[in-house]
Amino acid sequence: MKESIPIDELLEQLYSPSDFREIGHELVDVLADHLDQVQSQKELPVLTYQHPEKELTYWKDDMSSDTGLMDFYKKILERSIHVHHPRYIGHQVAVPAVISSLSGLVADLLSNGTGVYEMGMASNALEKIVTDFVSKKIGYGSDAAGFLTSGGTLANLTALLAARQAKAPGSVWEHGHHENLAVLVSEEAHYCIDRAARILGFGSAGIIKVPANNSYQIETSLLEQYLIEATNNGLVVIAVVGCASSTSTGSYDDLEAMATFAKHNNLWFHVDGAHGAGVVFSKKYKHLAKGIEKADSVVLDFHKMLLTPSLTTALIFKQATTSYKTFEQKAQYLWDSQQSREWYNSGKRTFECTKLMMSIKVYSIMRMYGTDIFEKNINRLFDLGKLFAQMISNRNGFELLVNPEANIVNFRYINIASEDLNTFNSTIREKLILSGKFYIVQTLIGDHRYLRTSIMNPLTSEEDFEALLDEIEYIASCLRSAI
Ligand SMILES: *Cc1c(COP(=O)(O)O)cnc(C)c1O
Repeated sequence: MKESIPIDELLEQLYSPSDFREIGHELVDVLADHLDQVQSQKELPVLTYQHPEKELTYWKDDMSSDTGLMDFYKKILERSIHVHHPRYIGHQVAVPAVISSLSGLVADLLSNGTGVYEMGMASNALEKIVTDFVSKKIGYGSDAAGFLTSGGTLANLTALLAARQAKAPGSVWEHGHHENLAVLVSEEAHYCIDRAARILGFGSAGIIKVPANNSYQIETSLLEQYLIEATNNGLVVIAVVGCASSTSTGSYDDLEAMATFAKHNNLWFHVDGAHGAGVVFSKKYKHLAKGIEKADSVVLDFHKMLLTPSLTTALIFKQATTSYKTFEQKAQYLWDSQQSREWYNSGKRTFECTKLMMSIKVYSIMRMYGTDIFEKNINRLFDLGKLFAQMISNRNGFELLVNPEANIVNFRYINIASEDLNTFNSTIREKLILSGKFYIVQTLIGDHRYLRTSIMNPLTSEEDFEALLDEIEYIASCLRSAI
């Protein structure tokens, strides 16, 4: 006899359409008010900094609090950094377009796994449209194709895995490698390239850092010499990685020269364009990435300069076939045939098994505002970078590190006699963050501490830059009188 199994009422409630409607409407109102406030009331803090232990205690106490759900969401908002605030000029995270965030809600409700076609029909089709669009803008031909994956870090690792499979002697995926493999990269590259090489088993000797020039671009005239030295030391160099752009300073490597070098020496040429490859959408700035179309693989983060919430990354291969060779192994329960190279089963080429439905967040922006919207944003952010750099150069007491190519501007305050400039600038930043008035970061260039800004918000304006420099001067004057 069959026994019925009664379902717990709470389990049923989890899926209540009326709860979804009611809470959803209320939540959207709370979020819309939040957006309105942080964009229009600049005196509101960008970040209300709390010590980590205090923050933890706060949330432990919250668990047993009986205030309503909307209060909980409001507390989350109060205790988070606001990238939509025009005075958020810190790390390179996109300010998501509202349509993209709302599409994220659709993705989260549907929770389509996406790696397998049947688990994400629409999202796989959208993904092809989005990645083909990127591929065309890069300047690739019809043999190129790619996919979306969870972040530039993972995408760079995936690209280097493909490079290893293509260029290392023998099949590393099947048999491992016995040679000491290596990659060449600028000393200014993002740290994830270093990590990727170590994860690949290359060790610290396998990540060969080539010095940068005065503009923080890889010194391409040294590539040949570094390659010869590596070979003489018993290393087998398989790839060279270009930065488009670098993280600290937003500098673009000479991709054209790197492509020629790679071709001449039969190396894989990978471009880490996580931050800056978006210039391929801009007629005004695409010259910065000249030669990118000669790369074997390119990484581009939509969640950096392309209006999309974290994480949404495109990895595009000049020869799509190489991407299918990266993980040639059997997972028969997922796919009929590992040999068949179907664009619509992206899991064959990605690390992820279950994969977020990212494509909808990019596609919805393109559908609603047209594909030129990315160009508009890039141009605005880069133009703002140049404007801010000029304002810094024109002010006494400030030193600009370098004229920016991108939307990343580094500078420091120097109007202080015989003081430790590094500590002084660090303290300025700390006071700035604690005030909540601006959010900027810092970086070490050589031995020097610089204040670092990435202009991510198209709503940031000249007035905000003026106010930032005024505030830094004010903090500096308070610090000086305290000495
Ligand atoms: C941000 C960034 C990365 C890392 O990408 P994530 O999406 O944060 O994982 C890699 N390289 C460069 C140049 C970047 O700017």
